[in-house]
This record gives sequence, structure tokens and C-alpha cells, in this order.
Amino acid sequence: MGNVITKQSYKERQLIIYQEKVMFLQQKGWLSPIIQKQNTSDYQNLTDVEKEIIIEANSILKDLKSKSVKLALVWCKQNQSKLKQRQSTFQSNLVFQEYIENLKEDQWKALEYIRNFTNLLQQEWREKAFGCMLLAKQTKKPSNYQIYFEDQQWEQLIRQFKIELYEVYCYPMESPLLGAIKCGISTLKTQYCDQLKAIRCPICTTEMQELSKELLTTQKLGSTWICRISGELMDENNPPMMLPNHQVYSQKALQQMSDQMKEEVYCPITKEKFKFNQCIRVYLT
Ligand SMILES: [Zn+2]
Repeated sequence: MGNVITKQSYKERQLIIYQEKVMFLQQKGWLSPIIQKQNTSDYQNLTDVEKEIIIEANSILKDLKSKSVKLALVWCKQNQSKLKQRQSTFQSNLVFQEYIENLKEDQWKALEYIRNFTNLLQQEWREKAFGCMLLAKQTKKPSNYQIYFEDQQWEQLIRQFKIELYEVYCYPMESPLLGAIKCGISTLKTQYCDQLKAIRCPICTTEMQELSKELLTTQKLGSTWICRISGELMDENNPPMMLPNHQVYSQKALQQMSDQMKEEVYCPITKEKFKFNQCIRVYLT
């Protein structure tokens, strides 16, 4: 019976971790890898609502990438009240972008388009649209208008859609997975982690240092001494020893070095050599 419970809770834990990973991927905008795994058991673990959101978001992103706002506008209509509540500019940006694409082709077509969709445009966008119409034929447009005619506007729309998506579905801006990792890092991080590269300290690894850069350290009530040569704990069984240059290492590491180097020890910090019997024991208080 006990085994069954353990197995089940292990499965549940795996599921929670998986769901947090999915949320992390969604927030980073890496939805495609999830969708490609549709037939895997991992994908089946998602709730129907989550699956629906992923499928819909992927098709909207694909549509935006192919320079079409059709699906995104449908999504805006479905989520009109939430977007309005947030005073979102997404719908106006979509209509404006489609207007610009029409304008690139033909001014009359663009005029027809703006007449039909003017109710979806906020005042500021109507003014911009008018300015663009006047300047459309000019080869050298002022930089504040030229930008509207460039392809990078589509990338901005894609970025904005991802943000709107998290807001509308109430996903936290930072994923719980990243939050949990950062929490773990904070409890382990010491104020010396930025300066020293201690062996066996998970935070002192290059990847973790990158992640922990902005994080604060927590107050440590107890501390342990770790030998910088062997990475072993320094305690009464492996006491700390001080070299004449005041650097401290563990007795075992120095003893091992002395056995290999004919009674001599080498300080990896200052690159000096000393006799093993010059080392003195340090007492921690
Ligand atoms: Zn460290």
C-alpha cells in the first residue's frame, strides 16, 4: 500500500513539474516544441483548456509570421472585454498593420479598408493612418513614419501577442518553474559566490552564476568550511590548516599533496611552495 502511494505522489510531482515546464515554454514563446509533442504522453497530461490555448496560440503566431492578422483579429474579438479592461492597443495595432500592408499595394484599397475598420482604431492610430496615407508615395519618409512601413512591425506584433496572451489567460509573467529555481538559488547563494569558484558549490558554476546574478543572498545562520583543493568538508576529522601565506586548506588535501611532493605543499592561490610541517592547524570558534 505504501508503495502505491509513493508511486502515485511521484507521478503527481512529475505532472506538476511538467506543467510548470509547459508554462515556462509558453512564456518564452516556445510553443512550437510543445505542439510538436502532441502525441506524447507529456502532451496528454495537459488539461483540455491548456491544449486548446496552445493550439490556438500557435495558429495565431503562424498567421502573424505569414503577415496576416486574420486569426489575431478573431482572437481579439473573442477576448474583447478583457483587452478593453487592460486598455490594450493590440487590436488597433493589428488593424493599423493591415492598413499599412494595403497602403503598400494601393492607396485606394487602403482607403477602402480604413473606412470599414475605422471603428476598431483608437484615435491616435487614426491620426497615424492619415499621416501614413499622405507620406505613402514619398521615397524618403520622416523616420517616425518610415518605421511603420518596415517588416519589423510584424515582429513587434508577435511579441505583443505573446504578452497579451499571458495577461488574458492570467498566466504570471514569470513562470513558477523559474520562480522555484530562483528560490532554491537564493537559499544556497553566499556573498562570496560572485568572487570565488568553490568546488561542489552548485551556485559557483558558470550557468548558475548567470541565473543568480540578480538574486540576493539569504542570511545563513550556520556555515560550513569547504576545502578549496579537495572540495571536502573541513571539520574535526579533516581540520583546516593554515599555510605561512595565511591561506587555509584541509588537512587531508595538504597531506595528500605532501605525500606526492616529498613533504612539500603548493598553494594554488599564490602559487608558492612550503614545507608541510610549516602548516598550522586552525581552530574554528
Ligand atoms: Zn558558491
